Amino acid sequence: MGLLSGKKALVTGASKGIGRSIAIRFAQEGADVAFTYLSSVEKGEALEKELAAFGIKAKGFRSDASNFAAADKLIGDVVTFLGGIDILVNNAGITRDNLLMRMSEEHWDEVININLKSCFNTVKAVTRTMMKAKAGSIINITSVVGVRGNAGQSNYAASKAGIIGFTKSVALELGSRNIRSNAIAPGFIETEMTAVLDEKTVQGWRDAIPMKRGGKPEEVADACVFLGSDMSTYISGQTLEVNGAMNT
Ligand code: NAP
Repeated sequence: MGLLSGKKALVTGASKGIGRSIAIRFAQEGADVAFTYLSSVEKGEALEKELAAFGIKAKGFRSDASNFAAADKLIGDVVTFLGGIDILVNNAGITRDNLLMRMSEEHWDEVININLKSCFNTVKAVTRTMMKAKAGSIINITSVVGVRGNAGQSNYAASKAGIIGFTKSVALELGSRNIRSNAIAPGFIETEMTAVLDEKTVQGWRDAIPMKRGGKPEEVADACVFLGSDMSTYISGQTLEVNGAMNT
């Protein structure tokens, strides 16, 4: 028996990085897993096969997290495929870094829509299903940057801080229905998102981490397993920081 046996999960943005690790860890723990991707079609198709090899139900959906109508359709399709959704992980996210003076309106909107509006899109759509089941665990991936801000990332910081406020509000609104809502705030995690940073920036992050190393996607995924499982049935409205003590 895995920690998530019998549970049905949806993970957004799972073609690579942290989302991919979450999908794999969920499958290892016995959950049936639906996931989304957008541009990385081959990686999405490969992940579907990798997940199915764990003997669970698995399916990838190509769906733009920022699109309200697409998210509504996605939730319907996933409920049809899995028979319900017990765990929703809003992980899809992007960066479009620049100093405020040079930041375009387009990059502001893109980051807010993909990182923050996406959470509204899926949570609003999944609420019906979770209310009917009188249970559910919503996990939104925020960031250390949403907690403390970061020069050159005002759009990203605003989107991630917004996720924390949204997560707490959902916990307050849906707590009486036994629906939990938590955020996970990773610090510096080694994925394609951080691989594009120059060595000086990376060194700056490493110097700021008391544990003196970047995190692995699997270490964020383990926190998701905990918050998705029945090991955390009285934890809601919280932001769990996974960052090697960076923000302490
Ligand atoms: P990543 O390697 O760049 O992966 C991002 C994922 O999001 C990909 O699977 C991508 O899918 C998907 N995605 C992007 N836009 C999408 C859209 N419009 N619709 C659906 N899916 C979309 O990034 P990561 O480092 O794993 O980050 C995952 C999450 O953790 C993000 O929310 C990020 O902000 C957060 N985070 C990361 C770090 C870090 O240090 N890496 C730290 C704190 C928080 P396609 O490639 O198929 O488009």
